[in-house]
Amino acid sequence: MLLSCTDVRKTFGGNVVLDGLDLEVAEHEVVALIGASGSGKSTLLRCVNLLTEIDDGTILLDGAEITDPQVNPDLVRRKIGLVFQSFNLFPHMTVLDNITLAPTRVHKRAAAETRDQAMTWLERVGLADKAKAFPDGLSGGQQQRVAIVRALVNSPRLLLLDEVTSALDPELVGEVLTMIRDLKAEGMTMVLATHEMGFAKQVADRVAFLDNGRVLEQGPPEQVLGDPVEPRTRQFLTRIIEAGRL
Ligand code: ADP
Ligand code: MG
Repeated sequence: MLLSCTDVRKTFGGNVVLDGLDLEVAEHEVVALIGASGSGKSTLLRCVNLLTEIDDGTILLDGAEITDPQVNPDLVRRKIGLVFQSFNLFPHMTVLDNITLAPTRVHKRAAAETRDQAMTWLERVGLADKAKAFPDGLSGGQQQRVAIVRALVNSPRLLLLDEVTSALDPELVGEVLTMIRDLKAEGMTMVLATHEMGFAKQVADRVAFLDNGRVLEQGPPEQVLGDPVEPRTRQFLTRIIEAGRL
């Protein structure tokens, strides 16, 4: 397994957010996390990226325990990219500088090599002409694609995407989804939290339904979204359908 989360627990001030969560992700697999707001999707992604420290359990990447306190989190984050709903680009820096900042400053990689890699990615996603632009000169969809490139420039083993289309105007969602679909075609392993059930259905190999900090049900998208076993999954999907999002 590329990623193995076992009995992961996280409590915030008495609020149990991850309650013995287990999740395995194989190389090249795309797993969509679905579940009600507050079910722990973002917390799980943050724990995997070591932005949030777990209370108990283990998280393994390529068989090595990354939640071991001895592990340098910067080395782990180089192998695990995380992209947020809000793009978090620095407004005072160009697109290219936003992308190359962490690899050169934090990870001490050669600036020239990093710039080359950044430009290669920007070309692939059709944003090479924006390299010298500032984020506010880009559409939301373009900014989010830059944020994804920033996560890719370290050639991560795993890409975590947290509701990356939620802040976008509907007409800009498509270009970001296309980029994610292309990454899947290239074999990128991804875990994505999403409210876009239609997209989960199209792109995910497996859908995992989170409920109260555990994976309550998981399986192929057709099964989990089309014919769920658990009453709570059914309830959740009924609400989604009522809201017109499936
Ligand atoms: P989801 O992404 O599924 O909506 P989250 O992981 O964001 O769920 O949140 C799960 C719960 O954890 C929520 O009740 C939220 O308020 C709480 N939570 C998340 N981060 C923190 C934090 N840093 N401090 C306190 N509570 C938090
Ligand atoms: Mg969230």
